[in-house]
Amino acid sequence: MKSIKRGIALLLFLSILGSLLTACAKEEQKPEDTKQTDASGTDDFPHQNKDHITVCIDPGHGFGDVGCGPALLNAYEYEITLSVAKLLQKKLQDKGVTVILTHDGKEFPQASYIAAKADGYKLEYKPENMVDNDVFSAYERVIWENVLDKETKGGLDLFVSLHVNSIENADHISGMSIDYCEDNPNKTFLSAFSKLLEKSYLEEKLTSKFTIFEDTYEDSFIVTKYTNVPSVLIEMGYSTNTKDAADLRSEDWQNKFASLLAEKICFAFGK
Ligand SMILES: [Zn+2]
Repeated sequence: MKSIKRGIALLLFLSILGSLLTACAKEEQKPEDTKQTDASGTDDFPHQNKDHITVCIDPGHGFGDVGCGPALLNAYEYEITLSVAKLLQKKLQDKGVTVILTHDGKEFPQASYIAAKADGYKLEYKPENMVDNDVFSAYERVIWENVLDKETKGGLDLFVSLHVNSIENADHISGMSIDYCEDNPNKTFLSAFSKLLEKSYLEEKLTSKFTIFEDTYEDSFIVTKYTNVPSVLIEMGYSTNTKDAADLRSEDWQNKFASLLAEKICFAFGK
């Protein structure tokens, strides 16, 4: 009897040891089983994996339209958007991304030129909204973007329109925001991309508040609803808020803003 009991005890011991070893082996396998996670800890991101990507950046305003400011900003909106757009262009190019600006601050395509190009590609647009003057309107920009999409090998992968927000007599209101149209065929990607930016900009303390707007077609900005490519409009902060205005005109903040955006665009496209 003694030897049988010993045998049972040994078997029990071996079985417990076996399950412990299996558990350890599972634990060790865990890191390999875990899905790829970005630096901000976002899982299951719907990456748009492509060999090469082209991003179109739109520095909001310019020419006959200065945008908001100067007040607390000590500058006009068009100066800030152009400065950040050029920084973002450089940082994306350094990562191997092709970048096209809707304009370089020196000149912009006239409406009749955009219309002729759009006709050539049989793109839809409203001719009555295209007027040759000293303003590069939001409508002309988005039709130009659709032309650029046709003229770019492989098409445009993302359109980013940069702006500065403002609200009169409400200097307590601050923060960054992103808008996209709920009708965009790439809504799932734009939603995930917006959440990624929200998390990243808050974590890096580049803004105190980040709001995501998934707009209906009626409420959408012209540059996010008439586009043929995934498009977002980013308000980088308020020119009417003391802290935001100081950030917006700071070279250091502009660099950090552009670096983080370039990094997250690359992550979103699996780069
Ligand atoms: Zn603006």
